[in-house]
Amino acid sequence: YSAKDRSLGVCVYGSELDDHSPERLGLLGDLRRAMDAGELVLHWQPKVSLPGEEVRGVEALLRWHHPERGVIPPGVFVPAAERTPVIRPLTRYVLDVAVAQCARWRAAGRHLDVAVNVSARNLLDDRFVDDVLEVLARWDVPASSLELEVTESAIMADPARAQLILGRLADVGITLSIDDFGAGYTSLSHLKDLPVHQLKIDRSFVAHMTTDRSDALIIRSVVELGRNLGLTTVAEGVEDRATLDRLGELGCDVAQGYLVCRPLPADELERWFDRTRVPAGA
Ligand code: C2E
Ligand code: MG
Ligand code: MG
Ligand code: MG
Repeated sequence: YSAKDRSLGVCVYGSELDDHSPERLGLLGDLRRAMDAGELVLHWQPKVSLPGEEVRGVEALLRWHHPERGVIPPGVFVPAAERTPVIRPLTRYVLDVAVAQCARWRAAGRHLDVAVNVSARNLLDDRFVDDVLEVLARWDVPASSLELEVTESAIMADPARAQLILGRLADVGITLSIDDFGAGYTSLSHLKDLPVHQLKIDRSFVAHMTTDRSDALIIRSVVELGRNLGLTTVAEGVEDRATLDRLGELGCDVAQGYLVCRPLPADELERWFDRTRVPAGA
């Protein structure tokens, strides 16, 4: 099936509840309380270099430990929050928790870059850059330790605006990634002018690349595009060894996926580091 179908698949991911359902509205109203109550927690998923599988950084992925509903994945509440002003306090909250964790790891001698997902609406918010700088200053973490992941659709919602905001973030030394690359519609002319550093190839292409010839060709093309534009390429959703090996052969720089490590709470991630003997300086 076509990339277009897949991009729809990404859009409806986790949206078993209709956007206007009372259920969803109820969840949204509950979100501010959940932040204060500490119900929103971050799990962490490593990104490793190819070849060699050295940890390059960790991505923060949000989960809601709801007292009645159990664990709610971000696909259920983030897209709805993204369409309301609550996305600003939500993103600030995630940034704060993520950068605080980065500071704790640094204090323990573990110099990890942390990646945070940001929404289209954050890029349209005049205060977003200041919010980011404020959080880095609060925890005394250098901008070079922070990565921000933005989807193609967030950028294409207002490419000129995205270029301006991403430019200001890049200028202070933050690493910028285009998430789910290939699932949206970034025109190559925009891509050329965007101040981004990484392309994260959408999981839908990675999933079948060892069996589907066109998926393998797409990955090969994105890796080549990245190389020609001076961008790091990252493959997300790597679930088996054959895929990891093939990505390495194709020259993809970084991999992430269940094969390497599932997203884990910070304490479990530290045990994973110990088990896999990741040096503290990683
Ligand atoms: P994403 O940023 O593209 O994150 C990758 C998603 O793929 C995560 O789902 C991750 O758990 C999952 N994943 C990782 N490796 C594998 C694998 O090998 N196989 C499979 N099948 N899946 C894998 P998750 O945590 O449910 O997050 C879904 C999306 O929600 C994220 O996609 C991101 O767009 C959004 N999101 C998560 N946390 C935040 C946040 O703090 N803020 C915002 N704005 N969005 C967030
Ligand atoms: Mg991401
Ligand atoms: Mg860095
Ligand atoms: Mg992604």
